[in-house]
Amino acid sequence: MKNEKAIVVFSGGQDSTTCLFWAKKNYSEVETITFDYGQRHKLEIECAASIAQDVGVQQTVLDMSLLNQLAPNALTRHDVEISHEEGQLPNTFVDGRNLLFLSFAAIFAKQRGARHLITGVCETDFSGYPDCRDLFIKSLNVTLNLSMDYDFVIHTPLMWLNKAETWQLSDELGAFEYIQNRTLTCYNGIIGSGCGECPACKLRKTGLDQYLAMPKDGLSTQGGAQI
Ligand SMILES: [Zn+2]
Repeated sequence: MKNEKAIVVFSGGQDSTTCLFWAKKNYSEVETITFDYGQRHKLEIECAASIAQDVGVQQTVLDMSLLNQLAPNALTRHDVEISHEEGQLPNTFVDGRNLLFLSFAAIFAKQRGARHLITGVCETDFSGYPDCRDLFIKSLNVTLNLSMDYDFVIHTPLMWLNKAETWQLSDELGAFEYIQNRTLTCYNGIIGSGCGECPACKLRKTGLDQYLAMPKDGLSTQGGAQI
């Protein structure tokens, strides 16, 4: 474990909660930052708060409602239906979201004396979100370091994992059941296995079923994403 401080970009969903447990394992001091941008469900913020409390980490909620002012979309507006046309970005996409979130997280981290930033972005299953790509994260890392003359390191433990492997990682971190029962991924605001109908629930369940079907013998205990 590194005797350093890390900040986790934290939404209370499966991915960022896996990142939180990963951070707890790898860093002596961990804090979370959660962005409130008018999510469909305030429950998402509450869910994140209760997880932070359970895990025993400080959580700071930043008001990012300006994002909705800039780019109203299906994640932030109740009157916009979630849809995903084949070959197009889903309408849950918010231009520049990770750029903004990670930039704010970095400013916050520097204030807190932390240089490690942890985010659950993933290129493997990505729905075409350009700011989930590894190349973007690496580019932003350089930009942040130059902009603040500070040695940030952005960690992306899930970057090359599929959903089944993310479940595997949570199991290796001893957090499988917790993440299964306490995180919120569902677009309809149902904690745990969710409504079962929305795209987020379907993706989560497919990954879980794949993981549960994997042979458990001979699995690496190192985790796929150790640095
Ligand atoms: Zn759902």
